[in-house]
Amino acid sequence: MFFYNRENVQGKEAKALSIILPTVGCRWRRCNMCSYFDDSPSDTSIDIFGIFVQEFDNAYDEEIKKVKLFTSGSFLDPKEVDHDCAKKIISFLSEKGISEVTLESRPEYVEEDYLKELMGNNDLQIEVAMGLESSNNKILKHSINKGFTFEGFLSVSEILKKLGIKNKAYLMIKPPFLTEKEAIHDAINSAKSIEKIADVISFNPMTVHKNTLVEYLWNKGEYSPPWGWSILEILKETANLRPDIICHPVAFGRSRGPKNCKSCNREIEKKILEFSLNNDPKILDYDCDCKNEWEEELMKF
Ligand code: SF4
Ligand SMILES: [Zn+2]
Repeated sequence: MFFYNRENVQGKEAKALSIILPTVGCRWRRCNMCSYFDDSPSDTSIDIFGIFVQEFDNAYDEEIKKVKLFTSGSFLDPKEVDHDCAKKIISFLSEKGISEVTLESRPEYVEEDYLKELMGNNDLQIEVAMGLESSNNKILKHSINKGFTFEGFLSVSEILKKLGIKNKAYLMIKPPFLTEKEAIHDAINSAKSIEKIADVISFNPMTVHKNTLVEYLWNKGEYSPPWGWSILEILKETANLRPDIICHPVAFGRSRGPKNCKSCNREIEKKILEFSLNNDPKILDYDCDCKNEWEEELMKF
């Protein structure tokens, strides 16, 4: 499966291709908001390289400068993508003239020797994307159950820096058990605490996935995804930080996703996507009657 989006690639807007690889999925499988791995095949004999080449050939056009590989887990986990297969994929992309590739991983699979092997003599810029979610260890442990600490993230970030690999960090907007106001503060504080470490910060506003603790709380009326206003506030407050700031909300305006009101959902989503291309905070100026409701919610706690 593949899809496209437009993003900032090495300083210029370009077309990016995302390919989902059918690996066995994440080994951790315990984050409170995630059930991505439910769709992962259990078959370990799938020819991942063959599928990658097939998807790439079907999707490729000359406008594509960046490729993002998703596995619903960690590309760098050898149980998901074995080392030979990963090396073949990187060499293939380099030969095709792709300038940048993004690989997702949990920090425990980021190993210096393996990354050196992967990089080989290729010109391809590698970006490793890690789901840090928050820089607050209490939130990582109790709200998200992430299974690693902020310090763990910092220590593998040193390896990426040493090797000239780009560091992309996902930060969650509104983990469970946080009020709207606490969630805004957490996202802004987390971004500030990795300002000198990450090259790209991608904010992920929560969507309610099936069969998760978040879905259980949401069904009981004890959790709701963030307001669009909260996302705008976080983007405004972080727009001037050193890393590129991006946010591509999923299911915006739907019941399981982040939202404002029916009359402004589409416009707010458009502004968030536009901001992600140029980080100009002026794009985020907007008003709608539902802002009062959001402000009232912030005053309660
Ligand atoms: S969020 Fe990432 S690390 Fe956590 S269970 Fe899902 S795939 Fe695994
Ligand atoms: Zn509105």
